[in-house]
Amino acid sequence: MIVCQTIEALRLERAKIVGAVGFVPTMGYLHEGHLELVRRAAAENDAVVVSIFVNPTQFGPNEDFSAYPRDLERDLAMLSAFPELIVFTPSAEAMYPQDFQTYVQVERLSQGLEGERRPGHFRGVATVVAKLFNIVQPQRAYFGQKDAQQLAVIRQMVRDLAFPIAIVGVPTVRAADGLALSSRNSYLTPEERAAAPVLYRALCAARARYEAGERDAEALRATMRAVLEAEPLAQVDYVSVAEAETLRECEGTLSGAVLLSMAVRIGRARLIDNLTLGTDRHFC
Ligand code: AMP
Repeated sequence: MIVCQTIEALRLERAKIVGAVGFVPTMGYLHEGHLELVRRAAAENDAVVVSIFVNPTQFGPNEDFSAYPRDLERDLAMLSAFPELIVFTPSAEAMYPQDFQTYVQVERLSQGLEGERRPGHFRGVATVVAKLFNIVQPQRAYFGQKDAQQLAVIRQMVRDLAFPIAIVGVPTVRAADGLALSSRNSYLTPEERAAAPVLYRALCAARARYEAGERDAEALRATMRAVLEAEPLAQVDYVSVAEAETLRECEGTLSGAVLLSMAVRIGRARLIDNLTLGTDRHFC
C-alpha cells in the first residue's frame, strides 16, 4: 500500500500503473460499505486508488464538517489488507487553494431530495469528484447506492462532461438488523443505535405494500411515515417516492422504476437510506 499526501505524489504513482485503475472516493472513517467498494474495484481493475478527503465544500454552514469522524490510522490499517492499493489523502489547501473559483453544477438532478435540504451539497460533491477524477484518471469509479442521488448526479456529470470513466454503483451494505452502514452511525448512542433500523423497516414496509400491488405514491409515503413516527427517537426530515431516473417526486399512480428514500434525525445523526422498486433486482 502506498500513501500519497499530495497531488504531485499521486500523479507520479499513477503514471507507473500499467492497466486499468479503479477509483473509490471516500471521506474516511471507513466501514464494511467502503471496503465492499474497494473489493469490487480490486476485482475489476489492475490497481485501485482510494481517496480519503473530508470535502469542506459539500457541507453547509450548519452541518457537521468539524464534527465529522476522522481516524486516518484506523482507515489505513483497514486498507492494508489490499495489495496494489494507493491511498490518496490530499489536504484541503491542495484541493482548494486560496484562489480556487471553479465549480461543477449538475442542474436538475441536484435540486430535489438531499439537494433541497442541503443547498450547495451536490455542487461541492460534483466539484470535488471532478477534480479527483482529473487527478486520479481512473478507468472506473465506484459509488454506493446508499447515496442514490449522489450516484445519479455523478453519472450525469460524467455523461455531460464526457469523462472517459465508467461509473459503477454498488449495493448498500447493511448491518444484520438492516441499518445501512455509515460513518455517521458513530454519532449514535447505544439507545439511538437500537432505534436506527427503523429507516430500513420503513422502506421494507413500503416495498411490501408495493409488492402487494399498491401503486399510489402517497400511500407508500404514508406507510414509511407511519413506521418512522412510531419510533420516538426518530425525527423525520423527509420521505420520498420519486422516479428512479429523474428523481422527480411521484404523484398519483406509479409506473416504472421508483426510488423510495428518506432522511431521518436520530439524536445527533442525520441518517439517509433508500430502496429502488420496479426493477428486476432489489438493492436491499
Ligand atoms: P462517504 O465516505 O460517506 O462519502 O462514502 C464514500 C462512498 O462509499 C460513497 O460512494 C458512498 O455511497 C459509499 N458508501 C457509504 N456507505 C455505504 C454502504 N453502507 N454501502 C455501500 N456503499 C456505501
